[in-house]
Amino acid sequence: MKKLNTIYFQDRRRFIKGISIAVGATAFGLPFASLSACQTGNKEGASEAEQSAQNKKLGIALVGLGEYSSSQLAPALQETQNCYLAGIVTGTPSKAATWKKKYNIPDKNIYNYKTIDQIRENPDIDIIYIVLPNGMHAEYTIKAAETGKHVICEKPMATSVEDCKRMIDACNRNNVKLSIGYRLHFEPHHQRVMELGQQQVYGAVRKIEASDSFVIPENLGNWRLDKKLAGGGPLMDLGIYCVQGAIYTLGQTPTAVTVKFGKVTKPKLFDEVEETINWQMEFPTGALADCRSSYNKQGNRLYANAEKGWWELQPSFSYSGIEGRTSDGPMNIKNVNQQARQMDDFAACILENKETRVPGEMGLRDVKILMAIYEAARTGKKVDIN
Ligand code: NAD
Repeated sequence: MKKLNTIYFQDRRRFIKGISIAVGATAFGLPFASLSACQTGNKEGASEAEQSAQNKKLGIALVGLGEYSSSQLAPALQETQNCYLAGIVTGTPSKAATWKKKYNIPDKNIYNYKTIDQIRENPDIDIIYIVLPNGMHAEYTIKAAETGKHVICEKPMATSVEDCKRMIDACNRNNVKLSIGYRLHFEPHHQRVMELGQQQVYGAVRKIEASDSFVIPENLGNWRLDKKLAGGGPLMDLGIYCVQGAIYTLGQTPTAVTVKFGKVTKPKLFDEVEETINWQMEFPTGALADCRSSYNKQGNRLYANAEKGWWELQPSFSYSGIEGRTSDGPMNIKNVNQQARQMDDFAACILENKETRVPGEMGLRDVKILMAIYEAARTGKKVDIN
């Protein structure tokens, strides 16, 4: 049995690696019209190899067992069809013990930040998912790529454009796929918004309004308020969803940004990162997006006004409970497990040798825009985005 398992894993590993070599040679086009990207589930007319690939479950190792891993990703991995929670990487032995028991993770699949390189030798793990503070994404994505495993990195991809490029280079060099944890590309209300906007169902979009904000607890020693670990304030953490929402509503990237910082009401708390930021993005068709993110208010909305109607998601960026309406009435779309769909889709892309709809290049594009927004804030001038 042991021998059989070894052969199975070796073959499986070669199979998955073979796929990634083929993918590594392919240039990524940036899929704005995300609807045409990699699909999950059995398809009619799929080849035998595709069907057989679809029957395998890939092993995911989560790196960083904080709030998002614990409350969203690990539970979602109990519902996935194409992948499962195979391993963990944590610097906290007590978390390792709890997770081992809760999710039945064998000792050989438990790593810490010093032993993460050894995942290279572990055939159970096919994908490494980086769920660490933003300022650590580049270092650990590069380490993960160098083990020869495929990588998912949480948003924002990194805290600088240079780091994003290094991450993409490392994944290309190691022939592995890189995807960003943009869960909303797999969420049906947001997919409807892409359709309404990009297919001009109500005519051309003129105006977008987006806000994503929450009140950060004051007594929490939080990396989100540390410039080095977070890269910035609510813009990096939440505003990225407004940037994404505007881009996929229109199917275009912004050409210029202007910014107004909001009032600072808690200077002690926000001595390194912004408390509130308001920015406007201009798009090639003349459409404008007014956006806002704050760590001192509530906000959770994506709205678009087009020539012949409007639509709105509110709440918009939550893990569940998203509600949508158009100028014709409620959208009546069911909520889904976004993270399960996102991870299943990436596993399917690996198994079926397809490109992810949320590649590193999209993460890089967004970090360039975030940096342009900060530049506009610093200079007080309009900043062009090329
Ligand atoms: P968190 O603070 O709850 O967890 C961070 C984890 O990193 C902890 O396990 C902590 O122990 C570990 N860590 C390792 N080194 C650390 C260091 N030097 N300082 C601080 N923590 C360190 O954070 P989170 O909310 O889980 O966020 C983690 C990542 O996930 C971030 O990049 C965040 O943007 C992203 N995230 C994404 C979503 C989403 O909807 N896609 C939601 C929440 C968080």
